[in-house]
Amino acid sequence: MNPSQSAVVQFKDNQDEEYGEWLARNPSGFVVNDRGRGNYLLIHRGEGLRCIRQSGKNHTNPRAVSTKVCSPDRAALETWCVREFRRGPQPCKHCFPI
Ligand SMILES: [Zn+2]
Repeated sequence: MNPSQSAVVQFKDNQDEEYGEWLARNPSGFVVNDRGRGNYLLIHRGEGLRCIRQSGKNHTNPRAVSTKVCSPDRAALETWCVREFRRGPQPCKHCFPI
């Protein structure tokens, strides 16, 4: 696989603009929203705009500890989370209905 296709990128509090650009470039990508230093991880589809926009509000809250971890490759993203946070993300119920 081309490494650029599975690249994992992390956006922090002052990177809303870059995050928005990533979403525009990767409409079928995946996004993990970390609100608590890896304690609460949900994985969303980039096209799940409802979730993404809601979390975007939290993202700009200066009191929120929040980062976005993004990748076009779900497996690469989950592997990244396990390595960095020592746990994998749970699938969002809206984006991944059972
Ligand atoms: Zn979602």
